[in-house]
Amino acid sequence: MFNKIAIFVSFFLCFAATGACAQGLRALARIDAAQSGIADISDHEMELTLKLSQAVPYRIFTLSDPDRIVFDFKEVDWAGFSAIKPLKSEKINELRFGVFQAGWSRMVMELNEPMVLDEVGLRIDPVKGDAVLKAKFKRASPREFAAQTGPRMEAGWDLPAEINVVAPKQRQLGDRPLIVVLDPGHGGIDSGARQGDKLEKDLVLIFAKELKETLILTGRYEAYLTRNDDDFISLPGRISRARMLGADLFISLHADALKSGWATGTTVYSLSDEASNEASAYLAARQDRDDLLAGVDLTRQSDAVATVLMEMARVETKSRSDLLADMVVSGVAQSIGRLRKRPHLYAGFSVLKAPDIPSILIELGFMSNKRDLNNLLTIGWRQKVIEGIVLALDTWSVEDAAQAQLLRQ
Ligand SMILES: [Zn+2]
Repeated sequence: MFNKIAIFVSFFLCFAATGACAQGLRALARIDAAQSGIADISDHEMELTLKLSQAVPYRIFTLSDPDRIVFDFKEVDWAGFSAIKPLKSEKINELRFGVFQAGWSRMVMELNEPMVLDEVGLRIDPVKGDAVLKAKFKRASPREFAAQTGPRMEAGWDLPAEINVVAPKQRQLGDRPLIVVLDPGHGGIDSGARQGDKLEKDLVLIFAKELKETLILTGRYEAYLTRNDDDFISLPGRISRARMLGADLFISLHADALKSGWATGTTVYSLSDEASNEASAYLAARQDRDDLLAGVDLTRQSDAVATVLMEMARVETKSRSDLLADMVVSGVAQSIGRLRKRPHLYAGFSVLKAPDIPSILIELGFMSNKRDLNNLLTIGWRQKVIEGIVLALDTWSVEDAAQAQLLRQ
């Protein structure tokens, strides 16, 4: 997994909402020596724990003659750590610290025996904004060690490449048209729900196209679809498209079928960690399984690192999504008269998991219900719902921009 070199780049997300707003990367990350250290966790494993005042870019690699593990960190102040040398490992002969180049500091562990990186991860506290880096090393044969040794030597390696970084989307401030990405559910080999000859994937595509046109006509929005045709797109693929399009908000559109006795009518979902009721859990499992229908599990996103680092953005995005869901509920209720009893639900839909883009999923109705299906097939009903959604977006964008302005002060 880690051949030659492991580069992990993180970045700090400024979070006024949670009071964890530091001065970004300009400030040195401090090490909390009391909660940091290096220790043997078995006779063949050793672990480094670093408690940092903020997340920073870093990379880890090994060098031989003598065998060494090298850590490069951006903007880390080693003072606390080096002073007490919290070293409880038999595997380390010597620990050295120094500036590697402007803005980058280096820690070198000189080893008593060859060890290679086994696991590494940086966890950011979403509230306080501090971070814990854990890197586990395991004993290796001299040959294994030699095979993994050495930093990348190609030209320009001197500044660690900023891989795996997706810059979080800047919050809208009400000074430009909002970019709305509409996501018609299902598509291609995945038809979604079916009732007679009517397929969910077709109904939601029609609705999405109509909504898109209406949004563009207002002059207040740019609108795009994740799919314009009957194509299969994975759930992560839908989020990636939204991000590529620069989405300010993301709306997934569905019209699923549920067992009889379950709800009818329009329902708006925003993300929860755990699905809030049986129907949400059932639907979440259904949506998530869509990715498996192509025969390949596409849900594993490769840049897990970037995903972890977006954790902080999630907190703020969640409340923005919840507000959006509430406003869509009241907008649609105004335009079509009434909604079901609990029109805003929380579910663990993967497609809502973009950490930096407010996202909701609208179940326009349930194809399994005759009246809902009939509504979906009626342009007059669709236009009313669309009016309600546009009204909701108008209200939300003003409120959301006002909150963003407040957070900036
Ligand atoms: Zn669906």
